[in-house]
Amino acid sequence: MIKSINPYTQEIVFEIPELDKKDVEMAINRAEEQYKLWKEVSISERSILMKAAGEELRENAQEYAQIITQEMGKPIAQSLAEVEKCANLCDYYADNASKHLADKIIETEAHKSYVSYEPIGIILAIMPWNFPFWQVMRFAVPALMAGNVGILKHASNVMKSAVNIEKVFERAGFPKGCFTNLPIGSKMVEEIIKNPKVKAVTLTGSETAGRAVAAVAGSQIKKTVLELGGSNALVVFADCNLQETVKTCVQARFQNAGQSCIAGKRLLVESAIAEEFTKAFLEGVKELQPGDPLNEKTTIGTMARIDLAEELEKQLQDALDKGAEVLLGGKRDKAYFQPTVVGNVTTEMSIFKEEVFGPLIGITTFNDEEEAVELSNKSLFGLGVTIFTEDFEKASRLIPKFDEGAVFVNELVKSDQRLPFGGTKNSGYGRELSQDGIQEFVNKKTVYIN
Ligand code: NAP
Repeated sequence: MIKSINPYTQEIVFEIPELDKKDVEMAINRAEEQYKLWKEVSISERSILMKAAGEELRENAQEYAQIITQEMGKPIAQSLAEVEKCANLCDYYADNASKHLADKIIETEAHKSYVSYEPIGIILAIMPWNFPFWQVMRFAVPALMAGNVGILKHASNVMKSAVNIEKVFERAGFPKGCFTNLPIGSKMVEEIIKNPKVKAVTLTGSETAGRAVAAVAGSQIKKTVLELGGSNALVVFADCNLQETVKTCVQARFQNAGQSCIAGKRLLVESAIAEEFTKAFLEGVKELQPGDPLNEKTTIGTMARIDLAEELEKQLQDALDKGAEVLLGGKRDKAYFQPTVVGNVTTEMSIFKEEVFGPLIGITTFNDEEEAVELSNKSLFGLGVTIFTEDFEKASRLIPKFDEGAVFVNELVKSDQRLPFGGTKNSGYGRELSQDGIQEFVNKKTVYIN
């Protein structure tokens, strides 16, 4: 049995029997049969179903959001926003996939030459629990619109959400086999990747899982997209709009109890305003409202599991041992970790070097632009960075210096269906969303007609 445990109450929310090898093989065979039919369905017909999926998400948002919150502790308002975002994603690809996948004519000496974008078959998605709907839909919606079919291995602690996502597609009218949830543990993944009917893999999760999955896929010469961890810096220059910057930084770090790959995880502040900024930031963090995640007024929930909160505690202890000081919070009760701000953070501390996947942020100061960029880039990850400044010339000058997948100015790094999303360095490779995302899992077929 795979179990979901509510991190706020520690009660079992859901149990599901794990599929065995035979069940998995049958599901893959069914997906393959469906793929042969689905790839022949026109994009406009696929769009009708995708619009229906969007409607289904909106109509039953409360049902889906409640399970998200019960399974991983996110405040209900944030779960509802996640479901709504998925509905918008469905609409976006229903409206734009035909444009994204239109043949690209390239003039040569041929009578006609072009690239066509064709589906490739079954795509395996291995997904994390932190945005149980969004991470999956971000893969599934473009993949299905491109004519592929998807099979899902979701994180073990959000299996009811996985069942619900399959239900969304079924209720919207997608034929069985277009999207299949496989309740399995990670040890079954290798065999699935090696199944010749599975053509590619996308994984959103930790670096460790990414390395393991990419190694198997590489041995089979199968494409992977990896969306892994991040350690985004929030770079605060003295010429920023202080009030707005504080608001954005609090949200960037503490939404989803800090459990987001693109959360701002390292606060880099120009020395000239360090004191003033820190004071205002602490005031902002104090406004976060902890409590029952099902209560609409709660703005910071528990972490998703007790072991994750314990891990965070160890990272905090490492920083304290190396000379950092707690400016706010620092205490844990089961899976609830107080919103925590740590000062005097240096580059040797694990909260600077590693990913901090919870409601804790360290402050490091810098003296000039060069040092700010150097500190930001001094990370093994490369998902994104936010810089806060009112000087747009400075911003334009600095943007090319960051080795990140995204640079945001005066806004938290966030995913938007219209923009490509993905990282550099140990944050992975490939892109999701926008035209770049839908074109990851297609055969870019070169056609030359003389
Ligand atoms: P995780 O432990 O890597 O789990 C992610 C998924 O991979 C789960 O379905 C997990 O299954 C599976 N998995 C783990 N080890 C595996 C292996 N050796 N082989 C095959 N599958 C394996 O990550 P998480 O704790 O759920 O999520 C947090 C991490 O995800 C953070 O590092 C975060 O930054 C990253 N993340 C990245 C993005 C992005 O877009 N870049 C977005 C969100 C999260 P089980 O649950 O059964 O172990």
